[in-house]
Amino acid sequence: MDKPQQTSRREFLRQSAFLAGTSLLSTRSFGNIYVGKQSRVIVIGAGFAGLAAAYALKQKGMNVTVLETRNRIGGRVFSHTIDPKENLVVELGAEWVGNSHERVRTLCDQFKIPLLNNQFDTHLIYQNQYTKANAWDFSENWKPKMKALLEGYKKLDETQKAELDSIDWWRYLVNNGCEGKDLILRELLDSTDFGESIRHVSAFVALATFAESSEKNEMDLKMQGGNTMLARKFAEGIGEGNILTGHAVKRIEQKDSVKVTCENGKTFEADKLICAIPTFAMKNIQWEPGLPAEKIQAINELQYARINKNAILFKKRFWNDESFDLVTDQTPHYFYHATKNQPSQKGVLISYTIGEKAELISAQNDEWRKQMLGQTLGPYFPKAQKLIESQANYYWGTDKISQGAYAMYGLNQWNTTRPALQKPFLHTSFAGEHLADWQGFMEGAIVTGEMAAAEIIAV
Ligand SMILES: Cc1cc2nc3c(=O)[nH]c(=O)nc-3n(C[C@H](O)[C@H](O)[C@H](O)COP(=O)(O)OP(=O)(O)OC[C@H]3O[C@@H](n4cnc5c(N)ncnc54)[C@H](O)[C@@H]3O)c2cc1C
Repeated sequence: MDKPQQTSRREFLRQSAFLAGTSLLSTRSFGNIYVGKQSRVIVIGAGFAGLAAAYALKQKGMNVTVLETRNRIGGRVFSHTIDPKENLVVELGAEWVGNSHERVRTLCDQFKIPLLNNQFDTHLIYQNQYTKANAWDFSENWKPKMKALLEGYKKLDETQKAELDSIDWWRYLVNNGCEGKDLILRELLDSTDFGESIRHVSAFVALATFAESSEKNEMDLKMQGGNTMLARKFAEGIGEGNILTGHAVKRIEQKDSVKVTCENGKTFEADKLICAIPTFAMKNIQWEPGLPAEKIQAINELQYARINKNAILFKKRFWNDESFDLVTDQTPHYFYHATKNQPSQKGVLISYTIGEKAELISAQNDEWRKQMLGQTLGPYFPKAQKLIESQANYYWGTDKISQGAYAMYGLNQWNTTRPALQKPFLHTSFAGEHLADWQGFMEGAIVTGEMAAAEIIAV
């Protein structure tokens, strides 16, 4: 998801990038702490925010240790080889790289990870009728109204934007003349971006998203070999010995320095800490001294979106179109071809669901999901169900660490909850997609990680 851009943070990033590009500033004192080339930094979380932070620090010759609770790196970037013989890789977490995602694109370029076109032409099943891509559209009545809303957004002042933040996107669409099939299509399409119904999404966040994103809504590119390729490259740069998986941080004590204790009993000390974990995970840590009240309230308020990905391996690509995706008004919600650019007779469709649909589907077994697929696709693709070879299902709503796919800022939260979560606390800076301008994206995670590192480098 793309979220409102804030010039000040972007400006900061440019300055940080400048700092990161210069040699490390000479050692200076920072409170009681010795900060400089020899200073020790602990990063909690080996998702893209933590890895990007550690990589940036390591580039400056700093002493970094990354502590990660899972037994793998990447966090919500979770590439899975669904067919090892055919080398078919699917993404159970983050999928697309957007055309506007400058840092991811630059890093992929540096690390020589090819970015391949992953755009789709969307087919539609609506009220038991199948319509091919480019043969359906919004009504002639609604199209100019939507265009006017998007153009109007660019002229809004801050007060008007704040007003918009108190109305949900569904209500705002209705207020502006969206109805019938147009409204249903907007719900089906837009809710896949936010991971919950558009009745929960602020009109400000939605308008900013659609006004500022690339034409295909940042569903543009994909890393060859899977998004985990970038995690691996970060890890090589950080030094794999400096990343400790299976290390769940349970206690953080901040005095003159920082002491971190893990569930396995190991302790680590450092001068600075970067906490790059989702808010649910932050709550499970014992902070000494305790986190400020406004941060605790923000942690308690923030919701994460429920997304289920059901990857279905088929013996044949019966959809006959490498750029196939399909929106339905039925339970599976959204199908897309997850093995585009991966040559094989076999292929994978991911059934992507959000909110209540995601919860429902995740609670069923593979046989039930097979029947559901047959019910939705059978009338138009009679062989689909028979061609199923296997399934891999991952539901983020009950992921024990993030409790959701990505943060979902509700009404009036963007300008209150997010700033409270962004604030540093004693020797600790925070990073992660939930704090980013490009919130909900790998890009956002990386940028916040690099910003946290740049703050340390700049001292
Ligand atoms: C289903 C889904 C679809 C998505 N689609 C896209 C997409 O198409 N494009 C896109 O750009 N982004 C997408 N995203 C979002 C993207 O995955 C995230 O924005 C990004 O990966 C988050 O990175 P992060 O570092 O902030 O958090 P995480 O990846 O969650 O990393 C945090 C890490 O901290 C670890 N951790 C937590 N607690 C502790 C602890 N106590 N001690 C030690 N370690 C701890 C976690 O295990 C985790 O590895 C999607 C995400 C999901 C789930």
